[in-house]
Amino acid sequence: MTKWVYSFGDGQAEGRASDRNLLGGKGANLAEMSSLGLPVPPGFTITTDVCTHYYANGRTYPPELEAQVEKALEEVGRIAGRRFGDPERLLLVSVRSGGRASMPGMMDTVLNLGLNDATVEALAADADDARFAYDSYRRFIQMYSDVVLGLDHEVFEEILADEKGRLGYDVDTEFSADDWRRILRLYKERVESELGEPFPQDPRKQLWGAIGAVFSSWMNPRAVTYRRLHDIPESWGTAVNVQAMVFGNMGETSATGVAFTRNPSTGEKALYGEFLVNAQGEDVVAGIRTPQSLTEAARLETGSDKPSLEKLMPEVFATFVKTAERLEAHYRDMQDLEFTIERGKLWMLQTRSGKRTTAAALKIAVDMANEGLISRAEAVCRIDPAALDQLLHPTIDPDAQRDMIAAGLPASPGAATGEIVFSPDEAEEMKARGIPVILVRVETSPEDIHGMHAAEGILTTRGGMTSHAAVVARGMGKPCVAGAGTIRVDYRAGTMSSLGRTFGKGDVITIDGSTGQVLAGKVPMRQPTLSGNFSTIMEWADAVRRMGVRANADTPTDARTARSFGAEGIGLCRTEHMFFDDDRILAMREMILSDTEEERRRALSKLLPMQRADFIELFEIMAGLPVTIRLLDPPLHEFLPKTEEEIAEVAAAMDVDPDRLRQRTETLHEFNPMLGHRGCRLAICYPEMAEMQARAIFEAAAEAARTTGAPVVPEIMVPLVGIAAEFTLVKAMIEKVGKEVLAEAGAEIDYLIGTMIELPRAALGAGEIAREAEFFSFGTNDLTQTTFGISRDDAGSFLEIYRQKGILEQDPFVSIDVEGVGALVRIGAERGRAVREAMKLGICGEHGGDPASIAFCEEVGLDYVSCSPFRVPIARLAAAQAACRGE
Ligand code: ADP
Ligand code: MG
Ligand code: MG
Repeated sequence: MTKWVYSFGDGQAEGRASDRNLLGGKGANLAEMSSLGLPVPPGFTITTDVCTHYYANGRTYPPELEAQVEKALEEVGRIAGRRFGDPERLLLVSVRSGGRASMPGMMDTVLNLGLNDATVEALAADADDARFAYDSYRRFIQMYSDVVLGLDHEVFEEILADEKGRLGYDVDTEFSADDWRRILRLYKERVESELGEPFPQDPRKQLWGAIGAVFSSWMNPRAVTYRRLHDIPESWGTAVNVQAMVFGNMGETSATGVAFTRNPSTGEKALYGEFLVNAQGEDVVAGIRTPQSLTEAARLETGSDKPSLEKLMPEVFATFVKTAERLEAHYRDMQDLEFTIERGKLWMLQTRSGKRTTAAALKIAVDMANEGLISRAEAVCRIDPAALDQLLHPTIDPDAQRDMIAAGLPASPGAATGEIVFSPDEAEEMKARGIPVILVRVETSPEDIHGMHAAEGILTTRGGMTSHAAVVARGMGKPCVAGAGTIRVDYRAGTMSSLGRTFGKGDVITIDGSTGQVLAGKVPMRQPTLSGNFSTIMEWADAVRRMGVRANADTPTDARTARSFGAEGIGLCRTEHMFFDDDRILAMREMILSDTEEERRRALSKLLPMQRADFIELFEIMAGLPVTIRLLDPPLHEFLPKTEEEIAEVAAAMDVDPDRLRQRTETLHEFNPMLGHRGCRLAICYPEMAEMQARAIFEAAAEAARTTGAPVVPEIMVPLVGIAAEFTLVKAMIEKVGKEVLAEAGAEIDYLIGTMIELPRAALGAGEIAREAEFFSFGTNDLTQTTFGISRDDAGSFLEIYRQKGILEQDPFVSIDVEGVGALVRIGAERGRAVREAMKLGICGEHGGDPASIAFCEEVGLDYVSCSPFRVPIARLAAAQAACRGE
């Protein structure tokens, strides 16, 4: 019989942390904490397999499930000394979702389940606290109606707000037992009038209602969107956790809170968290009241006059610190904890690896390796390469004038400027029109995710560092200021005001997520400098990676950036970019439009010194490192004069009739330039062009070797070869020039002549080509185009539809198509190396900076990847991770 239900509690558990796929992250970790002997309320997990079964069978459960749930429920009761549905020994439970990957706030939790008009009185008597019992019941009605019955929670908030206003209260905790009793009546009346049915009183009906709601919430639009944004497969499903309730709302010695074992913004090794006295569940993150700091140090830092847990409940605090340390050591990673204190006793409700900023991730990884908790290789593997982008976020220029409107919490680092919008839909619309916006909300909720995505930054007026806005923004790597309390937002009027100033929708503000400041207008920004931890991780990554990392760099600026990010050479220098400058394009056009070789040579002789000067500068910057230079590649028409004015200009320079020139331009027209007269075909038809480029390269190499003293290693690359004979011909031209130039200069330079493999024909014929070619560089942009027969420039109109229809999971121009294009790369590498064992192999398409593609390159055994300069750190890290995984 299939086991659908796994129990935990009382120092034991049927599952463990490694059962994440089956039990979901929350369930697996509850089981693990229970086995560790930590104080976890007993409960059980209904597996993700049930979710799969549920959707595969028209939203029905496996027949054995009910009996297994009953049995587990009895076991929970036995451990808790209670019984579900029994008013004499009342057992209340929470019903919590939890999939494999954490989807914060995506699925809703129901607390205090099992309460009804009768049991609430039992709870009041049992706890000797009627206020507490009614508070719990009204929370239950609120959550259950929202999550299970589909009745918006605002209905209840309205009632609460009315009552608060009528009684002149500020916060919920001021309501007395009698107040709550009256509010409960209003709640239930409202449920019945809205739904035409009274609120369900049978605890078992409530339980199955909640379980069903969790499973159906897997397919709610929010969850679907979140999964799409985070590449979480639909097939994973969610588990359901049913757990005995413990109460943080049982008066002044009770509390609920969340914590991180290290600071999730900075990575500092200090317990970090917030709590609320006499509160329950999500109160802390929902921003209902402003939470208090766990530690005294943090309280002093924020200048709050509300006591820390350390001061308020020193003993519980001490136990909590020990528990947190134990969990961090056990999981060997920073943990995100949820806990509740019930009348002075600590209960752990959740642990998981904490989300953190990239800066924090680097610091934590480095610190943990230095503490001996993890190895250096593990530290390297802990950093998400793509997230390094976050470090390149701008910050506010320290010298800038700051016109401060308000201050909140520095919830997610980086600064952003944009026009104010107050709704997520507006944020999305403005983004679509190319207008940067700051999303301003009182607080955010999962419904706002699309707007948060669209915004440059997020500003909230309520909520703490662990509020929804803060957590989600950090995950997205977006700047966020949370809880800017002086700001009053008026959604209806479309304004926000603070300290006597009012700003409307469309006004520009800047938020500084690193300091919490909200500033008027646009403020000058600065690119960040990279931290010591960043360099350390890079160093450790370099120590474990096998593949080299080079950059695609065409200009001296690119080359310098590349070196500063640690590139070990240039893997692709596209020479055509050098001909677009104003002073060069004319000579280039002359060359292209010449009728005779002689005319062409005349134009080329003008280009030679410029081209040589370019290469000298590149070689000097890259002294001692290899520089791969690709001969002219694009279809010539890209250089042609387009306007009458341009044609007249070239005609004058060449001293020819403009009409003749126009005709020549027309004959160069191609139907499919991408598959036309380009690549090595140019060198073959106009050898003098390749000769000029080869000469420029060799002369520059000789010159740079003289000036720098470090030998440069030019690698001359012939583009778009399909047939070995093409390469042989061009190679002979280059070699001839090389011999001449080096003899003239009396220099000795090591150089290689190789080719790009970017046509299927070349990959298949790689063995033949390798007889002459000294290196291969896989040009996976063109190889993808030519393998799929899809032009990159035209793919936009249908690729997204292909993705939606599940034909292609990923854009093959972003991440290499392993089965097709990858197979050709594999064949090319194998056939090349079979002929020339030590042949140098690299990749220079966009894929060279994509972590998944880099892992593929490692598998195939390429020698290096080459990517855009800003992706070099990402590639270094991804290459290291690929090497570790391959071991
Ligand atoms: P999420 O996945 O959104 O974090 P949880 O299932 O963790 O949702 O529930 C949210 C909060 O509800 C918890 O952090 C905890 O404070 C509270 N909670 C859940 N189960 C219980 C319980 N058995 N007793 C007391 N509080 C609970
Ligand atoms: Mg939780
Ligand atoms: Mg190409």
